This record gives sequence, C-alpha cells and structure tokens, in this order.
Amino acid sequence: MYADWTAKTCKENGFDFTLREIDREHLEDEIRTANQDDEVDGMIVYYPVFDSTRDRTLQWTVSLYKDVEGLSPQLISNMYQNIRFLDPPANTRKSILPCTPLAIIKILEHLQIYNNFLDYGKRLFGRRITVINRSEVVGRPLAALLANDGAEVYSVDVTGIQHFSRGSGLRKQKHEVRDMDGWGVQRCLPVSEVVISGVPGDEYKVPTDLIREGAVCINFSSGKNFNQDVKEKASIYVPAIGKVTIVILLRNLLRLAEA
Ligand code: NAD
Repeated sequence: MYADWTAKTCKENGFDFTLREIDREHLEDEIRTANQDDEVDGMIVYYPVFDSTRDRTLQWTVSLYKDVEGLSPQLISNMYQNIRFLDPPANTRKSILPCTPLAIIKILEHLQIYNNFLDYGKRLFGRRITVINRSEVVGRPLAALLANDGAEVYSVDVTGIQHFSRGSGLRKQKHEVRDMDGWGVQRCLPVSEVVISGVPGDEYKVPTDLIREGAVCINFSSGKNFNQDVKEKASIYVPAIGKVTIVILLRNLLRLAEA
C-alpha cells in the first residue's frame, strides 16, 4: 500500500519508481546489487521484514549515498550529534535526515512554529513540544531534531517521559536527555504549544481536556490518536502526514542525486 502511494506520487512528479518484490532471504543481496547499480539513485525498503534486530542489519546494508529514508548509521549518528554536513569543514553535502521526522519538521516550519527571526538552528527556542511515541524510526529522532533546533521536548512512551533540551539559553551544542520520574501526560500536555502523536492503532487517544487551548496537534499514526473534539481545542489540527513524508523522500532523493 505504501509502495503504491509512493509510486503514484513519483510518477506524477516525473521520477522513475520500480517496485522490486523478492523473497526476504534474498533482500540483503538485492540491496547490495542496488547499491552498485548506477541506474538506481535511491532506495526504500518497506519494514518490518524480520524482527527489529535483523531489520537494523538491512538498514545498515543500504548505501549511505542511496539512503532516501535517512536510516544509515552515520546519518543517524550525525542527526543525534547535531552534525548537519557529511563533509566538514567544506560543508557541501548535507547529511540526509530520517524522512518521517523531517516531514513533521517541514509541517511545523510551514505552520510558522519555527521562528524565522531567530538564527538557523535556534528557531524553536522557547517552544514546548510533546511527542507521544519514542520509536527508533520516528519518535526518538523527532524529539532529538526538535530539541537540537531549540525546543524543550517531552518525549512520552509506555516506559515513561523524557525531557530533550539544549539547556538554559541553548548553551549546549546538542540536546541532552533527562528522565522525568513521576511525570505523566497530565504534566506536559497543558504546557505544550505543539502535541505530536504516533501511537500505532486506533485505541490510544490523547486526552483532549489536557491539551492547551490553541495548541497545534499533529497525528502521524496510521490510526487516529486525537478525538474529534480536538478541533475545538487546537488552533490547527493535522490529521495525517503521509503525503508530506513521500515528498520528503523525493527531496532526499534529489539531494543524493545532485551531490
Ligand atoms: P513502532 O511500533 O516502532 O513504535 C511505536 C511506539 O509507540 C513505541 O515506542 C511504543 O512503545 C509507543 N507506544 C505504544 N503505546 C503507547 C502509549 N499508549 N503511549 C505512548 N507511547 C506508546 O511504530 P513507528 O514505526 O514509530 O510508527 C508509529 C505509527 O506511525 C504507526 O501507526 C505507523 O504506521 C505510523 N507511521 C507513519 C508514517 C507517515 O509518514 N505517516 C511514517 C512512519 C510511521
């Protein structure tokens, strides 16, 4: 389903998209072949394939120079350390960022949650954001990126709440993480100008009564994490982000192809 949607957007925008369906035991070899194939500028692997440990090996097999999803170890490591280029000090090649977190960031830029009067890298200074989901592919990298841009982030998961921040006055070059023992969503939602939720499935709902009046609410789960009445509380409600994620994949592809 995701591949079909991506194919449609690619074709509409003049990109060649080929879907290769193969036995999962042959996938690692297929990725290595695509890494060497000059006809391929970028690739997407649709996870989950095996369990999370074995899938990580697949992610590591994708060439850094063809990884439109931004999941290669060096790219992930650069992101967490707030290193934005692959070739310092020349700084001509930008480090690709993971596509779903980046899609959410682009939405926040569009909604002017990013303050353009501030310097690049500080444009979320003063913002408090709650992110519900701390998965390795979306929630944790998203919390890190937002904190690296200056926000105070409350990262909520079943294991508890963590605070991601660059400290008072953004004195630190990259974010630090602190466990918020004893905290629940009832403490972070009322103080957050932005609430981003991505709990899989349809069961989980963000309690509307705890959301701050006029907050921006974004759902990235395939289910609906917000109740209908969120529209009466939020200033802006973004119910889905899939289309933006596909555009970001294409943007990452252009970055890789042009380098
Ligand atoms: P995942 O299963 O890897 O991670 C889900 C995370 O949510 C886990 O850390 C889990 O512990 C946490 N969680 C579960 N219940 C929770 C609760 N009640 N409160 C707080 N945290 C809770 O999934 P994922 O890859 O992060 O994807 C999450 C959702 O986002 C899925 O629905 C997926 O389809 C969707 N998704 C959308 C896009 C897009 O572009 N729209 C892209 C990727 C994923």
